[in-house]
Amino acid sequence: MNRPYNFSAGPAALPQPVLERAAAEMLDWHGSGMSVMEMSHRGKEFGAIIAQAEADLRELLAVPPQFRILFMQGGGIAENAIVPLNLSRGARADYLVTGAWSQKSLKEARRYCEAQLVASNETDGHTRIPAPAEWKLGADASYLHLCTNETIHGVEFQELPDLEALGSNAPLVIDCSSNILSRPIDWSRVGLAYGGAQKNIGPAGLTLVFVREDLLGRALPICPSAFDYKTVADNGSMYNTPPTYAIYIAGLVFQWLKDQGGIAAIERRNVEKAELLYDFIDGSGWYANKVEPSCRSRMNVPFFLPDDRLNEDFLAGAKARGLLQLKGHKSVGGMRASIYNAMPTEGVRALVDYMREFATRHG
Ligand SMILES: *Cc1c(COP(=O)(O)O)cnc(C)c1O
Repeated sequence: MNRPYNFSAGPAALPQPVLERAAAEMLDWHGSGMSVMEMSHRGKEFGAIIAQAEADLRELLAVPPQFRILFMQGGGIAENAIVPLNLSRGARADYLVTGAWSQKSLKEARRYCEAQLVASNETDGHTRIPAPAEWKLGADASYLHLCTNETIHGVEFQELPDLEALGSNAPLVIDCSSNILSRPIDWSRVGLAYGGAQKNIGPAGLTLVFVREDLLGRALPICPSAFDYKTVADNGSMYNTPPTYAIYIAGLVFQWLKDQGGIAAIERRNVEKAELLYDFIDGSGWYANKVEPSCRSRMNVPFFLPDDRLNEDFLAGAKARGLLQLKGHKSVGGMRASIYNAMPTEGVRALVDYMREFATRHG
């Protein structure tokens, strides 16, 4: 079957071998006579599925033993509340704003704690990362929150900040919903990481949380039990029924990633894909990406045509070529190509070929 290339920002394309395997196992998982959707989350079959998924994830991202991995629900947006409910003690928490997602995190956190803006790139139209020297870090902040990849604005940290070197001992909290598993994570600089699954991991409905053990047990009394990291950790992510099918698919994606050669290999491919697209855009003299080159996202590439009146034509022609979901986010406009792990290099080449042809036709 020849599927089109899907550039959706999320829920996003999954690797075809994963979908094929899920289809083959749909009615009868490994001779159990059941679909994974029909199994008890406490049975031995699902127990094996979640244990394997966690072990593979830990191996892929080299997660140190002092971090617990939680399989939760609610997505990145729920974490905007769950993080301050668990970590802030109602006191000061620092927020860095680099785009729409971190802005949303700050706004929600203000309902639960004294959330402070330490720096923002809003006046630059969310096109660069403020230099760490400009951040106004609070001496007593319970954590610093940032978004490692702004899915809408296409701004990505190439390296996590070293807060200790900046004179802060606050744990770093990262929203890595849209670049998790695309590159390694430097755990020595992280206290907590979270990400919704539907960009780079699997189906919507699953949220991954990696939390350093010393940060457990600080939740505010009003924190819902099902969202108290300690309760979730103590119950092996089974305090409530976890999103079992989404965990199963995520597990298949982890196995697929290992088959690809792991994170180092997938990162090399992601670099290659991103360079292909940005080099073409910059060299075209026709298309434009406005993000400062040093913090351009490898995952989400917003770009503009010289005249918005060509947008509909561009999208229709793309669709006819089997290049889907390229329309930019409504707050930014233009186009956006999301090129997550599951997007093969050939998909990016097909996009560049089409863009070149379109520019020649209209240029
Ligand atoms: C998509 C996204 C979210 C929100 O995810 P939901 O599952 O809709 O809650 C949060 N942060 C980032 C960086 C995202 O890309």
